[in-house]
Amino acid sequence: MTNFKFDEKKIKDKINYTENLLKRNDLSQIERERVQYCLLSYYAILDSIDNTYNTAITPFLDKITKGKYSASKESNRLCKTGKIVIDKKSYGYLSKEYLQVLINMASIIQKPQINETKFADMNFSNENLKDIALSFYENLDQELFQNVNNIISKPDLINISNYKQVKRIGGSAWYDYIFNVSYINVSREGIIEDARIFCHELMHANDFLMQPKYYDSNYYGFHETPTYCCDFLFADFMEKKGFDLNEVNKMRSEKINYICGLAYQALFQIRSKIGLKKFKLDDIDVIYNALDEESLKNLLEVQSGIMAIGLYNQINQDKQLGINNLKTFMNLLIPKDKTPDFSQIGLDYNTLMNICYDIKNHGYDFSSYNLESEISQDMKR
Ligand SMILES: [Zn+2]
Repeated sequence: MTNFKFDEKKIKDKINYTENLLKRNDLSQIERERVQYCLLSYYAILDSIDNTYNTAITPFLDKITKGKYSASKESNRLCKTGKIVIDKKSYGYLSKEYLQVLINMASIIQKPQINETKFADMNFSNENLKDIALSFYENLDQELFQNVNNIISKPDLINISNYKQVKRIGGSAWYDYIFNVSYINVSREGIIEDARIFCHELMHANDFLMQPKYYDSNYYGFHETPTYCCDFLFADFMEKKGFDLNEVNKMRSEKINYICGLAYQALFQIRSKIGLKKFKLDDIDVIYNALDEESLKNLLEVQSGIMAIGLYNQINQDKQLGINNLKTFMNLLIPKDKTPDFSQIGLDYNTLMNICYDIKNHGYDFSSYNLESEISQDMKR
């Protein structure tokens, strides 16, 4: 029986090592910031081992970051410390034209998030999760499979806890920029989502391994593109494996509703700042000024979701081409000084806009959207 548990001692050793590294005065500003990010990841990893660390480490981090640690933990933005501030300028260059494109995409697909999905009980042992992940990735791609196999063979890079004990839903992934390894943490709820989240976090791990994405050199905000694509592929995989179709479809609609809900939320945040009556979708100067970091983050995640659906469609139409584009994306450093351009992987803004209309016109039931597009594909052939 594999025991997926972070090694507390190893993490503490890394913290000591990193704190000593920060005492050196020959680090450049960029090196220092990168080491600080890494240190915060170690703290978060330690924090996730068990709840006792909440009482010891959180107040300490809050003290040095003036409360920003707790505030940022909610949205998993651990880098929001006193020294490293993430604001809307940290994401990358944002022209008004690009913001208008982001607003247009969000306004097409926006939909208030409906009630929380209730999943049926489905229990996976650590061994089950491991087998599912290995089989999913082996089916997908050899290189991604090798990375996953390497991570899974070192059980101290993975932490699986029980939701009932840790009271934290979902998963997280961190990249250790100093020692070049990915860590993932999953809390198990006893539903089909446990297996999806495990594979999702392994995709984040893969994404980091293929190209370490530093905040200072990579356009920030697109990290969910490979993972959301993975979520849709995972639903198909589970359906093929004969898992309860009801639960598989819940996973699909949950994901698509989440992306549309995020679009709604981003527009709502901006609208509330401007004032409901004054808000106009094409009043870009006003929107630009009202935009804060949170709404920008959501808008970029909406684009990430649309791109994920684009890659998913590509993989369904031509597996090798789609996988190659997915891996090209994962290997990419997205320049921070210009509008992100993904036309080299077949995702120019016209294509993304068409995907938005597809989502809107085919409703929010992803399974029927999928079916419809398959029918129209067949008619073209
Ligand atoms: Zn994620």
